[in-house]
Amino acid sequence: MSVTVRVPAKVNVQLAVGAARPDGFHDLANVFLAVGLYDEVTATPSPGGLRVTCSGPDAGQVPLDRTNLAARAAEALAARYGRTPDVHLHIAKDIPVAGGMAGGSADGAAALLACDALWKTGASRPDLLEICAELGSDVPFSMVGGAALGTGRGETLTELEVGGTFHWVFALADGGLSTPAVFREFDRLTEGTEVPEPVASPQLLKALAEGDAHALAATLVNDLQPAALSLRPSLAGTLAAGTAAGALGALVSGSGPTTAFLCASAAAAEKIAETLSASGTCRSVRVTAGPVPGATVL
Ligand code: ATP
Repeated sequence: MSVTVRVPAKVNVQLAVGAARPDGFHDLANVFLAVGLYDEVTATPSPGGLRVTCSGPDAGQVPLDRTNLAARAAEALAARYGRTPDVHLHIAKDIPVAGGMAGGSADGAAALLACDALWKTGASRPDLLEICAELGSDVPFSMVGGAALGTGRGETLTELEVGGTFHWVFALADGGLSTPAVFREFDRLTEGTEVPEPVASPQLLKALAEGDAHALAATLVNDLQPAALSLRPSLAGTLAAGTAAGALGALVSGSGPTTAFLCASAAAAEKIAETLSASGTCRSVRVTAGPVPGATVL
């Protein structure tokens, strides 16, 4: 018997970052949109104890020990329900690793849901979301999907209405960027300046609610973008190439180095992807759309 859960990547259409708090975390106003790039996590009983395997083009960069968020999710659920995490978790990975698309968080949410179904723990949705929040700031959104505003460290979620489908091209970069390193660079770049309180943009929420891609493009903002560009200057060339190819809007996805291009239609996205791909400014491109549902048992 095994359970497979499919889980989407995310893009932050707004990522507003406040000053570093005394505990080192930053308050955020984080508007998440789940997009159709997916990992699948399969949980199978493993009498020999917890084991993680991974397949896919980036599999070599995924840790297979207890630091893997899928393993941590299984251990957290097992601890809460007083059982041993005797499970084999296989991750079929399509979300870029360390790409700013919450791939690890996605696997955490997927493993939690898969183990919950396999073990029939009877955990409630709020129980599962509480474990997600303990695992990491982006994990609750991977469970919920759709679109949501995250506040606090990003883990307190308010689901958002979306009035249409948005079409995206994602440009994958060579290598990853460490999220903590990008936040440290944000702190360095903003040192001595007044960092405003992070608040969600009313214009951006309206654009989402109305499904208006042009209005959304005009309001896309990522406060981590200067830090990501400072650590990876070549991303400026990727952003420029996508904009020149006709994207309505372009931004670094989360902490990068994946870049995201909002397009007017599915056909426009295909065309922009082709141009970007030929531009030599990225490793590969992916065309997709959102919002899509969160972690789902297949
Ligand atoms: P975010 O957008 O949430 O900041 P990210 O997409 O930039 O995250 P991840 O792909 O989640 O980055 O990976 C970040 C690091 O987490 C990896 O370099 C890896 O060491 C570790 N990691 C732990 N579990 C996983 C997992 N299941 N998949 C990928 N990376 C994982």
